[in-house]
Amino acid sequence: MALVQCPVCNKRISSMAKTCNHCQAKLSGNTESLSRINHIQRSTELMNHSFIALTLFIGGVVIWFWGGEPAEGMRSYIGGACFSVGFVGYMITRVRIILHKRKSV
Ligand SMILES: [Zn+2]
Repeated sequence: MALVQCPVCNKRISSMAKTCNHCQAKLSGNTESLSRINHIQRSTELMNHSFIALTLFIGGVVIWFWGGEPAEGMRSYIGGACFSVGFVGYMITRVRIILHKRKSV
């Protein structure tokens, strides 16, 4: 049994449910394909997250090494922050993508 989004109210419901228990919408027939669509949407979302994190990471490196010299003061602080947040964010997203693929429908 998987959780899917109700096409009417977007709340999480069981893929086995015949009607949504939040808005009582009738889920005509195949909720299995609904859960597949949700899975694809989730994959796209995770890919976007990893892209944002990677951009932040590269941005941090660029700020840090801008002009060929190691950054000082405020610039090193901002560069370092972007770099670490991007790096950690990217790692977390990669792990989430792996976990997501593992429970693929
Ligand atoms: Zn609903």
